[in-house]
Amino acid sequence: MRIVVFTFFFICTHVSVLQAQDRCGTVENEKKLLQNHPAKETPEQFEKWMSTQVAKTIKNQNNQRTQSAYTIPVVVHVIHNGESIGTGVNISEAQILSQLKVLNNDFNRQNADQTNTPTLFQPVAGSMDIEFVLAKQDPDGLPTTGIVRVKGSKTSWVLNDNYTLKSQSYWPAEQYLNIWVTNLTDYLGFAQSPVSPLAGLEEASNDRLTDGVVVNYRVFGSIDDGAFSLKTQYNKGRTLTHEMGHFFGLRHIWGDVSSCSGTDYVADTPVQSSSTSGCPVHPQTSCSTTKMFQNYLDYTDDACMNLFTQGQADRMITILLSSPRRKELPNSPALQTPVSVADDLGIKKIISPGTTACSGLLTPSVLVRNYGNNTITNAQLQLKRNNSVIETKNIILSLAPDAEQQIDFNFISLTSASATTFDFTITFANSHADNNAVNNLKSISTSTSTPTGLPLTESFASFPSSWSKDNPDGLTTWQTTLANGTSAMYINLYDYAEMGATDKIITPQLDLSNTPTAALLFDRAYAQYDGTTGEGLKVLASTGCRFDNSPDVLFNKTDAALATATSRLSRFVPASTEWKTEVISLSQYAGRQVQLAFESMNANGNNLFIKNVRFVTSSILDLAIVQLESPSFITCLGSPTPAVRIRNNGNIAITSFSVSLSVNGGSNTIYHFGNQILPNEELVVNLSPMILNGGTNQYTISVLEPNGSTDIDPSNDSRSYQIAFNTANEVIPLREKFETASKNDWVIIGAPQQTTWSTATTNYNTSLVYNGFTNTKIGEEGWLISPILNLTDITKASAYFDISYAKRSTGNETLRVLASTDCEHFTTELFSASGVALSNIAQETSWLPSVSSAWTRQQIILSSLAGQPNVRLAFVATNGNGNNLYLDNIEFFANEDSQPSLLEVPYSVYGGLASPLKITFNFDTRQSAFIQVFNVMGQLISELNLTNVLNQTFPIEMPNQGTGIYLIRVQTDTHVSTKKVYWGN
Ligand SMILES: [Zn+2]
Repeated sequence: MRIVVFTFFFICTHVSVLQAQDRCGTVENEKKLLQNHPAKETPEQFEKWMSTQVAKTIKNQNNQRTQSAYTIPVVVHVIHNGESIGTGVNISEAQILSQLKVLNNDFNRQNADQTNTPTLFQPVAGSMDIEFVLAKQDPDGLPTTGIVRVKGSKTSWVLNDNYTLKSQSYWPAEQYLNIWVTNLTDYLGFAQSPVSPLAGLEEASNDRLTDGVVVNYRVFGSIDDGAFSLKTQYNKGRTLTHEMGHFFGLRHIWGDVSSCSGTDYVADTPVQSSSTSGCPVHPQTSCSTTKMFQNYLDYTDDACMNLFTQGQADRMITILLSSPRRKELPNSPALQTPVSVADDLGIKKIISPGTTACSGLLTPSVLVRNYGNNTITNAQLQLKRNNSVIETKNIILSLAPDAEQQIDFNFISLTSASATTFDFTITFANSHADNNAVNNLKSISTSTSTPTGLPLTESFASFPSSWSKDNPDGLTTWQTTLANGTSAMYINLYDYAEMGATDKIITPQLDLSNTPTAALLFDRAYAQYDGTTGEGLKVLASTGCRFDNSPDVLFNKTDAALATATSRLSRFVPASTEWKTEVISLSQYAGRQVQLAFESMNANGNNLFIKNVRFVTSSILDLAIVQLESPSFITCLGSPTPAVRIRNNGNIAITSFSVSLSVNGGSNTIYHFGNQILPNEELVVNLSPMILNGGTNQYTISVLEPNGSTDIDPSNDSRSYQIAFNTANEVIPLREKFETASKNDWVIIGAPQQTTWSTATTNYNTSLVYNGFTNTKIGEEGWLISPILNLTDITKASAYFDISYAKRSTGNETLRVLASTDCEHFTTELFSASGVALSNIAQETSWLPSVSSAWTRQQIILSSLAGQPNVRLAFVATNGNGNNLYLDNIEFFANEDSQPSLLEVPYSVYGGLASPLKITFNFDTRQSAFIQVFNVMGQLISELNLTNVLNQTFPIEMPNQGTGIYLIRVQTDTHVSTKKVYWGN
């Protein structure tokens, strides 16, 4: 007798939320800082120092029995997207003040929910006696609210943007605790941990430009003080409390090790094996002891956190007393309301000259500001040139407090090719010595060059005397070198820790008065350190011999686009084959004088070289292919029309050219064009439709014969592409496991000779893999494209897929899912995740999943595509030379359910007393199904005739039936069975 009546099962719900955002990025940030600054102290060195320092702190407290109160000046930089104040990222002042209130309450154990601290932990609960206040004066000594609002150069930010984000707005970390609030997308927040003052670790001081705390704007502030738009779990401002703990040297309570051997180096916090999420009920046990998941340094929801321990407070006080920068904060002038004096005229900035100037006549000029309380009615200023007074200027003014005015001096003549020093001084204001001398002097050193005619060649055997350097931080800068025997200029960015620093080498003034055509040619070489950081190179041009006020940008490449050789962790010195020649037209400066600068931007990655700089007056013809505009990697028409974007890289107008097209190695079709393309301009040219074979096709497009002549740089004239002609179509539901033969409808493609998806054997049998581990070519893409999905008959749809990935410190892969509704153009992005958002697993060796817990299941909603007849999805992996990315079990459902069936059996009936009957199927291929329900008398109650059954759930009607036993017979193409159910409504 069959006994099984019901099939009970649990649905596994390891479905991750789109764009997963991790709670805290501090550990990851520390890892990156250590990676970029090998000389920085290790956590072990830091903790060795801390252990003796904390003992001193505790001893001092016991002796004195009192603690002094510490006041910390805070500046909040709101990096917004141009919203009005109080909207979106540009959060209101009330929200900022509510966050500071949380911080002060939590650090002083004044938090209302301290009563929720379990009795067990109340004896160890600690307080710091500290106050966080908004700064009262800015770095110029002027009054401030302590809130700075800046429109960011990007709309969203990740941890990897660390330097760029903070360079949007930054105040000196010795005087201000910098807090950046912005649209941080990969973490809720992250802090920069403190360092010890130990000798020999001075490189750590280079981290000052990034010191502080970053917090997502939707977790900043507390709903206890206003109806702010905050994330539900993190709506009480505890993200900043947590991150501020890190800023003052605290570690996560579980010690960042997933075992009972981890430590946070604090004696009165219990050992814990891992982080806690959500809001569990006390007590919880871990490592045979009661967890302190109420600690701010756990990952519990905001509402469930309520204490620091005294041991944690002692650690934070120790940092505040001894760590560089942190220890300066309680004595910062930022805490004082600026005291303005009666008569205080100051030089705000030097307007002219800059650090470079054209030879000839120049008017020195400064901007003065009235920083005092009285109106300034007269002043005396003095100008020195190379320490000799050249002008004393008495002026009549009527300058109200805070008003500014430009003051010009008599013109001077600059002819020397060497540097000149200028000192501007205010000697009197309102007929007497100024009441505040601090802002009365500003100096500048200015390089001038003699105009030089073209042509001009520079090989850099030594640094040419007619050129100059601009090295703003006085540290690492451009120098001459021999790169494998070739003279070149290089900058040692490999060892240069000042992230974001720029350095220039500046040409002499170039006289193009009599040259209608001119061009710059130079060779450059660069390799990235890894896929996550990248340097930049610009070529700037100025007709006013100044590079500090919006010079023309003639060339600008960064990161992988700048690389001329593969990434490497060793110091880059280019081989002869690793140089690339650039041609830049200067014809737009014909008839004038122009000065150029090569500017490096440091990311502390790898070395950058330039050599063989040539200024020529000859005509240069260089027509280049920039990119293919259309088609993409797939078509269902069979005769797509190629459109290609081309660019005139030369220095004269191109008025005729040809484009050739060859498909699958066939003969060239030549297209002639008579369009005009000016130097540095681009044009998109459309060719005629090309005829494709079924499957994958390769085609080559070339540009040739600009102005009927020869192109100077053949390396950018010709590009090859691949395209699949595929018309396979399917309806959903659909399941693809990538086992033998079944993936025929799917297309795997990429650019010729580039890495794309391939098959691999995993614990899910055959899976797809993108091999990022061995592929050093950052930015290459692998495309997996679905058959055409006909969604005309449905209103809702979703897709599920399994991914497996492990992060590696060298770089991050990205997975995107794109949608097309025309068989060809993938214009909609449905999913994008990279690095930590793809996986919590970190592994430095080649990744291969072997257990189901190494996979995560992702859902994407496709309902916006419902009704469309020709939908394709593309799964696009982008290489970061990190680790291998696996994909498997792609399933499409005609619903948006967040818990799809994950049955191990072909079908299952469920429901019972007061629960509607349903049947869920789980077939590998589509089948028909015939379902009949009988009562115990053998009477037919209900019937269901289904086609195209794969993975759906269907309700079973039980019209007018009472409680009792029913028999359900299911017949499919491959199975027949009858089950008994006990059902009642
Ligand atoms: Zn943390």
